[in-house]
Amino acid sequence: MNIRTLLAALLGAVFLATAPAHAQGKLNVVTTTEDLASIAREIGGDRITVEAIARGYQDPHFVEAKPSFILKLQRADVLIVVGRELEIGWLPPLIQQSRNSKIQPGAEGYLDASLTAEILEVPTGQVTRAMGDVHPLGNPHYWLDPENGKRIGKAIADKFSEIRPNDRATFQQKLTDFTTRLDTAEKGWLAQMAPYKGTKVVTYHRSFPNFAKRFDLEIIGYVEPKPGIPPSPQHTLDLINEMKRQNVKLVLVEPYFDMKTPNAIGRETGAEVLVLPPSVGGVKEVSDYFKLFDYDVNLLVQAIKKTGVK
Ligand SMILES: [Zn+2]
Repeated sequence: MNIRTLLAALLGAVFLATAPAHAQGKLNVVTTTEDLASIAREIGGDRITVEAIARGYQDPHFVEAKPSFILKLQRADVLIVVGRELEIGWLPPLIQQSRNSKIQPGAEGYLDASLTAEILEVPTGQVTRAMGDVHPLGNPHYWLDPENGKRIGKAIADKFSEIRPNDRATFQQKLTDFTTRLDTAEKGWLAQMAPYKGTKVVTYHRSFPNFAKRFDLEIIGYVEPKPGIPPSPQHTLDLINEMKRQNVKLVLVEPYFDMKTPNAIGRETGAEVLVLPPSVGGVKEVSDYFKLFDYDVNLLVQAIKKTGVK
């Protein structure tokens, strides 16, 4: 072996020793929702595999636990959650039963994506059951603002970089790409919605405060009397009267709620009743985080035009 061959062999050995990303294989990522999976895919690219637990057409507060979820969690290197107790009703026992120390809350592989996001409707003072059942730590539907999408992307890039420092440059580059594309897309969505600023709407659940704030819709009431509490006749009557008083012609319903009460409200008030997916996977056309806003903004603009009321 001459010196040149020896050097090449040594360099090869050094290269292998400093390339654990390849030796380690892909980072196995599990997210609770398809929205987080879509953003994680943007940041991780081919360096990760990613699977979501809940489907976008399911109510993320109430997901039926399945044994297959535990298997996914057993294999995960990273678990990304929406947080703010969105998943409190179903996720904690699954994490525990996975017995995977990497993804327990507080462990390096556990990421709560809400920690760096703008959270609305944070209760002040004492939180009681009278406020409703499912939003005790502020509104957990914060991904419905592309500005929060960027913050979630950054939190994910930082977490991936922490766990796989050798791939840091890749993750940070992909974050830059994602942020740039999202900035451009957001300008388009804002321009589409601009003529309809201040449009008054009613939504079934409090899924859309971040969306409404970003795109300047005014939510004047909810079909649910309180988050997680089903409609009552008295509340529905009050809501109908308020909609008539304020001339509100749009009711937005998440895909997983019963249409009976929204349709009745529509008949009484002449309002359009629109099924608006709050998540990736909510309808089949919405296959990623960009298409979520494409779809919802288009649907809203068409519906507002149809009502002739903004
Ligand atoms: Zn909710």
